[in-house]
Amino acid sequence: MPFAMTLMLSACAASTEVGLVKDQTAFLEAVKSAEPGDVITLANGTWEDFEILFTGQGEKDNPIRLTAQTPGKVILTGQSNLRLAGEHLEVSGLVFKDGYSPTQEVISFRRNKDHLANNSRVTEIVIDSFNATERQEASFWVMMYGKNNRFDHSHLVGKRNKGVTMAVRLNTEASQENYHRIDHNYFGPRSILGSNGGETLRIGTSHYSRTDSFTTVENNYFDRCDGELEIISNKSGKNKFLNNTFYESRGTLTMRHGNNNLVEGNVFFGNGADHTGGIRVINAGQTIRNNYMEGLKGTRFGGALVVMNGVPNGPINRYDPVINAVIEKNSLIDSDNIQLGAGSDEERSGVPQDSRFENNLIVNKDGRDVFTVYDDMSGIDFKGNVLGSMDPPDFAGGFERKSVNLQSRGDGLSFPVGMDGVGIDKSLKVTTKNQTGVSWYPKTEPTIEFGSGKIINIEPGDRVLSSAIQKAEAGDTIVLAAGDYVAGKFLFIDKPLTIKGTGSNKITFERSTLFEIRDGGSLQLQDLVISGDDSPDYAGNSVIRTSPYSMMENYRLDISGVKFTDLDTNHSFNILSAAKNTFADYITVSDSSFKNVTGAVFKLDKEDDDYGIYNSEYLTISDSNFENIGGDVVDYYRGGRDESTFGPHFSLTGSSFENVGFDKRNSSKSSLLLHGVQVTDITGNTFKNSAPFVINHTVGEPKTKIFKNSFVKTAGPKVLELNSILENTAMISDNKGLNP
Ligand code: CA
Repeated sequence: MPFAMTLMLSACAASTEVGLVKDQTAFLEAVKSAEPGDVITLANGTWEDFEILFTGQGEKDNPIRLTAQTPGKVILTGQSNLRLAGEHLEVSGLVFKDGYSPTQEVISFRRNKDHLANNSRVTEIVIDSFNATERQEASFWVMMYGKNNRFDHSHLVGKRNKGVTMAVRLNTEASQENYHRIDHNYFGPRSILGSNGGETLRIGTSHYSRTDSFTTVENNYFDRCDGELEIISNKSGKNKFLNNTFYESRGTLTMRHGNNNLVEGNVFFGNGADHTGGIRVINAGQTIRNNYMEGLKGTRFGGALVVMNGVPNGPINRYDPVINAVIEKNSLIDSDNIQLGAGSDEERSGVPQDSRFENNLIVNKDGRDVFTVYDDMSGIDFKGNVLGSMDPPDFAGGFERKSVNLQSRGDGLSFPVGMDGVGIDKSLKVTTKNQTGVSWYPKTEPTIEFGSGKIINIEPGDRVLSSAIQKAEAGDTIVLAAGDYVAGKFLFIDKPLTIKGTGSNKITFERSTLFEIRDGGSLQLQDLVISGDDSPDYAGNSVIRTSPYSMMENYRLDISGVKFTDLDTNHSFNILSAAKNTFADYITVSDSSFKNVTGAVFKLDKEDDDYGIYNSEYLTISDSNFENIGGDVVDYYRGGRDESTFGPHFSLTGSSFENVGFDKRNSSKSSLLLHGVQVTDITGNTFKNSAPFVINHTVGEPKTKIFKNSFVKTAGPKVLELNSILENTAMISDNKGLNP
């Protein structure tokens, strides 16, 4: 009871100064007359198209405040944003959703270039999926300018378009050496962007990277921030990253530019998720101390701990060499990769110097060696490191193999029993999800799983499919009774849905496509027969296509036990046609067959501008058969030379091709065309009377494995290194019927 009383009292006190503001005109008046200590309170409700400009001169310990009548009940929608400029301002309690900013920024700590905010705070703010409609049009959610500002206890989730979620700018002197604090924020799931520009937090830019920022980033929670290679891109000096938690986030905290930064007490839980990484060290004077990493699967630049080579006396936008680094008392448990001298080549020839690597604990259950060393490591002094069952590496001393008994403490951290002074300190506390963001806005799961909703039973009849799809809710399963179904309309999929048959129901369709996946849609097809018997006699039909308009939400497509047949009414009939600016988290196919198709099966080649963009992160095909296919089974394109993405990934296992790729319109003359794919696994398949594969390695270090396949009257794979003079890196072995 006393607690509730206090709350009520403070709420009353808060609304006495300027009073409740109920419309935009009243807000303008209130701002004009606001004096130190005043509180401007926005009335509960929805504020549409409200571009808030909050200016004023508060005083230390006596700020001018802008707040919500009830935190979380003031909703900014439509074309809204917030700019603050002046001294000692404080904003709290607002929610931005169901709209987007008409400018490049949602929250900006400045009015314009000359009028910045200083000594100000934005706290307990929610920005939820506040995105415009173009996936590749850059925008930013929070931009900090000025000095001594704080952004804290806020909830940022659902940034889906190009552009960093939050950044600290150092573009004028008035924003340098800023001493900002970014703390206790919940950085909710950020989906894979499929190109550069998906960072969650950036401090500085390469242009001002030799400038100090003095920004502290502490006690934040990064929940599946999967946008791209860099979760955090540090590009300035003297910042501190303290006690943040990185939960199943792909990518790394990257010390991309800037010197003398401190990374201490951070916790990385990978839980074995693909591409989860830790810390990447570049430049001079970095300290990496007392950090905990467990279950990180990242490779190469995305490993658990990566120390780069640099360019000696290089230009400002290149990697500076690592000098005076201190890497000590970190615990790396069951993490796959520690890379030293990474990126070593003719240009990046500057090895780490005058650095220390001490008292780190490196333990793997399987005793596998996690070190990859690319260059001379004599500039690092290795001392007192403990390795568990791993053999000490041969490039340096200072590693001891020692039996380690790890004990879990219940907060996710494990400590070696009876071993002090090695690995993280027992005083390290994990920042939990609950300690971040706001208490009044739920931290919901980003996707609705297939099959999580109700069952809708339908029987053959007039327009039954389209009306069932319209009525269904996200996660529902539409179950088809025995019989055949004709779709006379496009079936628009704008929510996750499962359509399941008996294994013999035949679906035919009279429009140029059967399913169109739209923004928010995902599709699972099970145990069906899909035939082109009733399709129009025009070129370019598809069974499934993605929206012709930019899709902000990534979709999922899962096909199992489906027979696709007679998709040959005219030429260039594809199974899936992906449009530009649409992106699949995954496409999975199993136990399915594809027969008599005039076009391609998976056409994922529309991002042809060579901007490093592509159409799907994973394409996984298993135990499926492809017979009489005119085009490629897969046409997968990722152009450009940028190295910010982990994908695309491709896997084909336990499947067969027969008579694939020979249609005269198939210009590549191939049965599989993979361009710029980063990870390829083709194992245990049979290829008969088919055109060869064409695999173009263009960027990164693509991993291509072609193992244990059988080739019958089919030419061998053509793997080309388009931008490298080095030897072909594809691993091709144990195949039958390949001419050596
Ligand atoms: Ca980037």
